[in-house]
Amino acid sequence: MLLISCPHCGPRDEAEFSCGGEAHIARPLAENSITDAQFADYLFYRHNPKGVFLERWRHAAGCRRWFNMVRDTVSHEIIEIYAMGQMPKTKAGKEAYATNWRRSSEAEKAAVQTKKKGAK
Ligand SMILES: [Zn+2]
Repeated sequence: MLLISCPHCGPRDEAEFSCGGEAHIARPLAENSITDAQFADYLFYRHNPKGVFLERWRHAAGCRRWFNMVRDTVSHEIIEIYAMGQMPKTKAGKEAYATNWRRSSEAEKAAVQTKKKGAK
């Protein structure tokens, strides 16, 4: 059983939380065209490393808020907890983010706003 420190409520039992899977999955923008196979990468495929993983969690039986967690899937060590919309600050978290196959996927590239003429 994990002792998870909710950023809003403090340390609570794992039973109060639900895991929302992989964090930092960027949705491709409609203005950027990608193939169906590349869109399937975004929609269906998830990173499943043996080691450090970036996850979304929700304090379902508490404040019901979402947050991100850097966790080692082998030892279950919780390395870092950080707010939604933020990036990991620990070295292990930054490495896990950078080495995820998703960072080089076409779906993730299509999640970036393309520059248009006249746009600021
Ligand atoms: Zn909470």
